[in-house]
Amino acid sequence: MTFDLVVRGGTVVTATGRQRADVYVQDGQIGAILDPDSPESADQVLEADGRFVLPGMVDTHVHLMEPGDSTREDFPTGTRAAARRGVTTIVEHTHGWPLTDAGRFVDKRYHLRNRSYVDYALAAHVFPEHVGEIRGLWEAGVAFFKIFTCATHGIPAVTPATLLDVFQELADLDAVCLVHCEDDVMTAANERRLKAEGRIDPGVIPEWRSREAELVAVGSAAMLAKVTGVRATVAHASSADVVDLIQRERDAGSPLVAETCPQYLYLHESEIHEHGPFRKFTPPARIRSTEDQDRMWNAFNDGSISHLSTDHAPSTAAQKREGTIWECHFGLPGLDTTVPLMVDAALR
Ligand SMILES: [Zn+2]
Repeated sequence: MTFDLVVRGGTVVTATGRQRADVYVQDGQIGAILDPDSPESADQVLEADGRFVLPGMVDTHVHLMEPGDSTREDFPTGTRAAARRGVTTIVEHTHGWPLTDAGRFVDKRYHLRNRSYVDYALAAHVFPEHVGEIRGLWEAGVAFFKIFTCATHGIPAVTPATLLDVFQELADLDAVCLVHCEDDVMTAANERRLKAEGRIDPGVIPEWRSREAELVAVGSAAMLAKVTGVRATVAHASSADVVDLIQRERDAGSPLVAETCPQYLYLHESEIHEHGPFRKFTPPARIRSTEDQDRMWNAFNDGSISHLSTDHAPSTAAQKREGTIWECHFGLPGLDTTVPLMVDAALR
């Protein structure tokens, strides 16, 4: 038969290995992966000699700020950046317009029609006062539920008492959740202390969003996940200490798994002093030494870290410079940098 397109002569890389092969595409989908000398033909030929041909990245943690104020980012620009740099599927959730019930999920899907250049799914938020909406959202087709253990980005905290109920409800539905782990009481106490001291230097970020606050929240989530059996992922595990804690809990029977992002494999904690708002994201970068960095890469390579996402949440440079370090936006871009960074790492 004649296919629409062939990507010819490249080295096809999959989860199980690499091989010289030609990739044939029909109606926008892979129709066949065949030996280089196969007799099939195609209307369009893309020569990939000397190149790697990789599956598109599935990025499960993306913020594109729609509906709502999309001056930071929107679906057309964000998904164009994704497609250009090898991310072909995203799971998106935005804190500015959270999906707290099934009606909002329907509204958002309608809003997004013809606005994405890649495949996408949507995740919902769990608000403490909307726990009763979880079932309806899951049955409507959300990909997962985002839970914050601390009040952040305008999203209220789910504290341990409520988290137990939420995990139980999710476990009963066999639903999936992504948990942002920073302890609400500890981060709030840090914030009060730092502000009382009059601190406005960028160094407040790692003190406010402390290592201990993250570890305490991961510990609670791990314990409650073990009690309920919920399928939960710790969002953006920021250090090897966090990954080790999750691994210990897994060894003890907790179903928790760890996600991380390139910023926790590459960026150093001290960069906040030089780059200020351009390194403001939470949890912050934790790497202090080559050993710290090696431990994270080893955890990534040995499977202690389940998967990589971007936590894509960009701002314009002007927006990043607005206000004090307390006031400017959290977040980094990632859709257009992550695949190149990881391919680069793989080739070293
Ligand atoms: Zn995020």
